[in-house]
Amino acid sequence: MTEYSKLLSPLDIGFTKIKNRVLMGSMHTGLEEMPDGFEKMAAYYKERAKGGAGLIVTGGFSPNASGTIIEGAGMLHNEHEMEKHKIITKAVHNGGGKIALQILHTGRYGFHKNIVAPSKVRAPINIIKPRPLCEDEIKKQIEDFAKCAALAKKAGYDGVEIMGSEGYLINQFIVPRTNLRDDRWGGSFENRIRFPLEIVKSVKKAVGDKFIIIFRLSLIDLVENGSLWEEVVILAKELEKAGVTMINSGIGWHEARIPTIASMVPRGAFTWLTGKLKKHVNIPLVTTNRINNPKIAEAVLERGDADMVCMARPFLADPEFIKKASENREDEINTCVACNQACLDHIFEGKIASCLVNPRACHETEINYKPVKKAKNIAVIGAGPAGLSFATIAAGRGHNIILFEKNNKIGGLLNLAINVPGKEEFKETIRYFNKMIEKNKVDLHLNAKVNPNDIAKENFDMVVVATGVGPRQVDIEGADLPHVLNYMDVLAKGKKVGKKVAIIGAGGIGFDVAHYLTSENENTNNKEAFFKTWGIDIQYKERGGLANEGPQFRLSERKVWLLQRKPSKMGKNLGKTTGWIHRMVLKAKGVCMLNGVIYKKIDNQGLYIKESGKDRLLEVDNII
Ligand code: SF4
Repeated sequence: MTEYSKLLSPLDIGFTKIKNRVLMGSMHTGLEEMPDGFEKMAAYYKERAKGGAGLIVTGGFSPNASGTIIEGAGMLHNEHEMEKHKIITKAVHNGGGKIALQILHTGRYGFHKNIVAPSKVRAPINIIKPRPLCEDEIKKQIEDFAKCAALAKKAGYDGVEIMGSEGYLINQFIVPRTNLRDDRWGGSFENRIRFPLEIVKSVKKAVGDKFIIIFRLSLIDLVENGSLWEEVVILAKELEKAGVTMINSGIGWHEARIPTIASMVPRGAFTWLTGKLKKHVNIPLVTTNRINNPKIAEAVLERGDADMVCMARPFLADPEFIKKASENREDEINTCVACNQACLDHIFEGKIASCLVNPRACHETEINYKPVKKAKNIAVIGAGPAGLSFATIAAGRGHNIILFEKNNKIGGLLNLAINVPGKEEFKETIRYFNKMIEKNKVDLHLNAKVNPNDIAKENFDMVVVATGVGPRQVDIEGADLPHVLNYMDVLAKGKKVGKKVAIIGAGGIGFDVAHYLTSENENTNNKEAFFKTWGIDIQYKERGGLANEGPQFRLSERKVWLLQRKPSKMGKNLGKTTGWIHRMVLKAKGVCMLNGVIYKKIDNQGLYIKESGKDRLLEVDNII
C-alpha cells in the first residue's frame, strides 16, 4: 500500500496510457549542444524513466535557426538531426517511460543576431532587438513547428510539448505587451491567439491522432500587459478544440520581476491557477512550480487542482524520486532545495547543468559509484556537506566508514543555512544524509573532536579531512571589540544583534546575514504573504495577474548597511537566476548597499569608512 495512490495511478488519454501522474518537466541541460550530447542525454533521461517519471519532456529544441537561444543551439528541422534523437527515445522506452520533445522557439529571448518576434519590441533581459515577422514568415514558422513535430514522431517520441509560455515566441504573439501588430496576427485577442492555434492545428495534421500534444500555456504572465484570466480560459478552450492532448501550466515570463521557482517561493504556490482552469476544460491539466516532494504532489492531485504534476529540478536532484515514493522510501529522496545553483545558473554561465545535491545529474555516463572490490577502513573528519557526501557514497560502495563530527549533530554549515529566510529547504538535505548514514551503515561519532595523534594510532587506510571553512578574520583596527561579531555568532549561535548593523562583505554570506537580520517575525512559508509581498493578485483582476498596488515589502525595523570593498555591482557573484531577487528584497527592506568602501577602523561609535572619496562614520551597534 502506498499513500500516493493518486500520484501513482495511470492516466488514460485514450490512445495511450501514462503509467502515473508524473511529468518530468522540460529543462535545458547544455548536453543538447555537445558533440556526444545525445548519448549523455539518453543515459540521463533513461535513469529518470527507470526512476518512475511517467512522461518526460526534453529540453527545448527549436524548429528552425531563428528560434534557438544562441547560435548553434539544439534544433530539430531535418532528417539528419532526427536520426540523433532516436538514441534518446530508444533509451527512454527501454527504461519503461514515455518521452515528448519540447518544441521551443525563443522569439525575442534569443541571444543571436537573427531573432524574430511579432513586433519590434526588445525584451528587458536582452540587448538585441527582434525583427518583426512578415505574413509569409509567420506561415513558415507554423510549417516549421509542424515539420519539427513530424520529425519528432519519426524519431520515436511519444509526443511533443509546444512551448507557449514563459514569454517565448508563442506567448509574445498572445499578449498586447509584445504584439503590436495590426494585421490578422495582432490587435484583437482573436487575432493574437491565431498563431498558437494555427500551430496546434498544423502539428495535429502532421502527427495524427495517436500522438501526445502538450501545450504549455501561460496561466499567469506576471508582467504588465500580459493576458487577462478570461483570455487564458478562452485560449485553453480553443486549444482543446484544436486537438491538444493536455495542457501544461506556465507561470511567469522570464523577464518578470517576481520569483516563481526560487527557494523563497512557498511549495506548491501556484497550483491554484491550474485548479482555477480545471472546470473550464475537459483535457488533462498539468500543474507545476515548487513541487518537490511526493506529499505535496499527492495533495495537489487530491485537491483536484490538476490531473498530473510536473517536476523538473526534483528529477535532477533524485532520478529515483517516484520509485522511492512508490516503495515507501520517501525519506531516501534527495530533495531539490530550489537553489538553482548548479542547474539554471550553470546554463546561464554556458556550462552543463547539474545539481548541487546530486553532481551525477547530466553526468551519468561519467560519474558512477560502483561497488568496491576491496573495502578500505576510512576515517572522515567532519560531517558537513563534503564529509557527508563522501562518507555516505563511499559507504554505499562498500567501504568501512567512521565519520567523526565535533558537534552534536550532522550538517555543518547546512545548519546555518536553514536559519536564513528562504533557505529552509536545506533541512531536507540534512534529513537525506541522516537516512543515508543509517542505510549505508556509516559509523557516526558525534561530539567527537579528533586530533591527528589519535587518528594516526587507529591505522586507517585513509583519512578524509572535511572540516569545512570558518569566518575569516578582518584586519581592521578595533576588530577585536566585543560588538564585532562574525556570521557564525549570528547565524549559528544566535548572538543578540542591535538595531543598527554594518555587514562587512557582500558575498553570499553577507547577503544571507542581511536577509536574516531584516526578516524578523516574518513567515516565509506563507503563500498569502508571498503573493502580497510580490504583488501577485490572486483575484486576477488585471492583465498579467499583477496587483494594482504593486509589491508590498515591509521595511525592516533594523537599519542595515551591507558593504563591500570592490567597486563592482553588489552581489555580482550571486547566482544569475536568484541574485536579482536578493538585491531587490534587501533594497525594498531598506538595506543600504555600498560598494567601493575602504574600512578605516572600528570603535564604540561604530565603523569608520571612506566611501566615494569621503570619510564617514556608520554609527552602528554591531559590525558583522
Ligand atoms: Fe534543485 Fe539546486 Fe539541484 Fe537545481 S541545483 S536541481 S535547484 S537542488
